Amino acid sequence: MAGELILIVEDNEKNLKLVRDVLQFKGYRTLEAGTATDAIALAMQHAPDLILMDIQLPDMTGITALERLRAEPSTAALRVVALTAFAMREDRERFLAAGFDGYLTKPIDIKLFPELIRQQCELGRHGE
Ligand code: MN
Repeated sequence: MAGELILIVEDNEKNLKLVRDVLQFKGYRTLEAGTATDAIALAMQHAPDLILMDIQLPDMTGITALERLRAEPSTAALRVVALTAFAMREDRERFLAAGFDGYLTKPIDIKLFPELIRQQCELGRHGE
């Protein structure tokens, strides 16, 4: 299993490191971006299997970044999952309505997180 390329978009260095370490330990390859601008550039360059998108980023919101990815033919079909501390039910609905393919909450539970990522990669493989 694993080996999928995952782009982690997160401006908090501690959170970024934790997610990266958990994913790499499980055999995933990772790309990292601390801004939406870098994330979009990396997405266009590498077409990752999955993008984990923080919502509060220094240069634009993760929702705006998602809109830019969807507007660009080379990144429009990439699987993008919100990874955010916003945890209210309305938030979840708001993110899915914005076009995210899924929604994961921070702080991550390192025991559960790998399985959630595996599910997201699996859903992506079935061309959803
Ligand atoms: Mn943030």
